[in-house]
Amino acid sequence: MELDPLSAVLSDNSGAFGILLLLGFAIRQIRARRKSAARAKKLLQKAIASNLAEPLTLHPEINPALCVGCGTCTRVCPEGEVLKLIDHKPVLVSPTKCVGHGECEQHCPQGAIRLVFGTKTRGMDIPRITPNYETNIPGLYIAGELGGMGLIRNAVKQGHLAAKHAIAHLSRAQTQVDVLIVGAGPAGLAASLTAIAEKKSYLCIEQNSFGGTVYNFPRQKVVMTHPAELPLAGTMKFPKNKVSKEELLAFWNEVRKKTGLQIREKIRFEGIERGEGFFKVTTNAGIITAEKVILAIGVRGSPRKLGLPNEDLPKVAYNLIDPAQYRQVDVAVVGGGNAGVEAAQYLAKPELGNRVTLLVRGSGFDRCNEENKQIVIAMAEQGKLVIRYNSAVKEIGEKHLLIETEGDTAGGIAPGKIANDFLFVFAGAEMPNKFLMSLGIQIDKKFGEGLAENLVGVHA
Ligand SMILES: Cc1cc2nc3c(=O)[nH]c(=O)nc-3n(C[C@H](O)[C@H](O)[C@H](O)COP(=O)(O)OP(=O)(O)OC[C@H]3O[C@@H](n4cnc5c(N)ncnc54)[C@H](O)[C@@H]3O)c2cc1C
Repeated sequence: MELDPLSAVLSDNSGAFGILLLLGFAIRQIRARRKSAARAKKLLQKAIASNLAEPLTLHPEINPALCVGCGTCTRVCPEGEVLKLIDHKPVLVSPTKCVGHGECEQHCPQGAIRLVFGTKTRGMDIPRITPNYETNIPGLYIAGELGGMGLIRNAVKQGHLAAKHAIAHLSRAQTQVDVLIVGAGPAGLAASLTAIAEKKSYLCIEQNSFGGTVYNFPRQKVVMTHPAELPLAGTMKFPKNKVSKEELLAFWNEVRKKTGLQIREKIRFEGIERGEGFFKVTTNAGIITAEKVILAIGVRGSPRKLGLPNEDLPKVAYNLIDPAQYRQVDVAVVGGGNAGVEAAQYLAKPELGNRVTLLVRGSGFDRCNEENKQIVIAMAEQGKLVIRYNSAVKEIGEKHLLIETEGDTAGGIAPGKIANDFLFVFAGAEMPNKFLMSLGIQIDKKFGEGLAENLVGVHA
């Protein structure tokens, strides 16, 4: 059908208008991508210049042959600007901020990502574990953070899978319990619930209190955890995947009550001896015999120390449970990771009246998430705390610290000596590898090896 001249012009124009709109959109997209890639390059250069180009823990390795550069992995990372596209390929631009969530691996539509321990140049010591979490000693398992992977969700999954495998391979030895679980953190909790669900005899021993590392988090700390399946209790799911420490512990305590979970607190595992098809476990309360043993002891029992004289003074601590205990005092916090930055935030709440100094080793916050970084920088700008960059503690005194520093947010080169009543050190944790080796467990140095070689099924 012929169009009248006016309709023809209008129809021509609407086609042209559509094309213009599309073109405008495409140009905006290209500009945004270029800007993002430029920022990514800057972040990477900064990481390299600051000697922070090596990831500290489990991290993604991208297979360039499979990756199509869709950028899904960069959008799903919960830690912010960690993975970014450069030249249409994802690059770990802030390697030390990666904590191995594995969201990138799970969401990659091409299966181009796998999680690995260590890099070609920086090996990472990890206990040898089969895909079923069994160590080189048959019947002895490792689950949770002790196996090299952090996060509550991973600990729950591993505790469950380790217990399932252990229970499936019981041969009915004459022991006090079928399965002995050491440690009542999320891994030990899941392992114990699995034993109840499978109707096997078990005992969970814990040197401190039920809850593991979570029990030692600061009051009201927001715990970030993805939904996880807790045996017998169902899905552990919280709004926006955020929950306070108290809410999480209350949930676990409710599960403990409902299931009659047997946890013996204040019992410390000290050693293990192999018998014929069973183990003799030494604790501070005597010997326990078990056919299978699951070590779910985490790594927080060995906090990394500064290695300075006077570090054993009572004013020095490696965790912060109740910030409100500290009022009107001079406090220093060492550590630019999430734990240190969060502790500084809690201690610097104006109602406490503390004078808080946050001591960061590098020239910025390369080890904490974006949200924590923004909060602490804003607090420094508002004068609620002082951040000292490129700083290190050189001496610990009863009432002072001697620190080396290159810059601070208080405006000016800081004097070396600062008043100090309490010092909190958040420098990470040492893997208790010597202890594990003394039990006969083999430790391997991983140079960029994936879960397939060590832990299969964690992200299933
Ligand atoms: C400050 C901080 C903040 C964190 N925030 C988050 C977060 O927001 N989200 C998240 O998912 N993860 C977070 N994590 C990590 C998470 O807490 C751990 O990955 C998780 O708790 C590991 O669980 P686990 O059961 O392996 O070990 P743990 O929780 O460490 O539990 C191990 C238990 O074993 C006990 N134990 C140790 N040695 C012995 C022994 N010889 N005998 C008997 N018992 C023993 C310990 O007392 C402890 O109770 C955080 C960690 C820290 C330090």
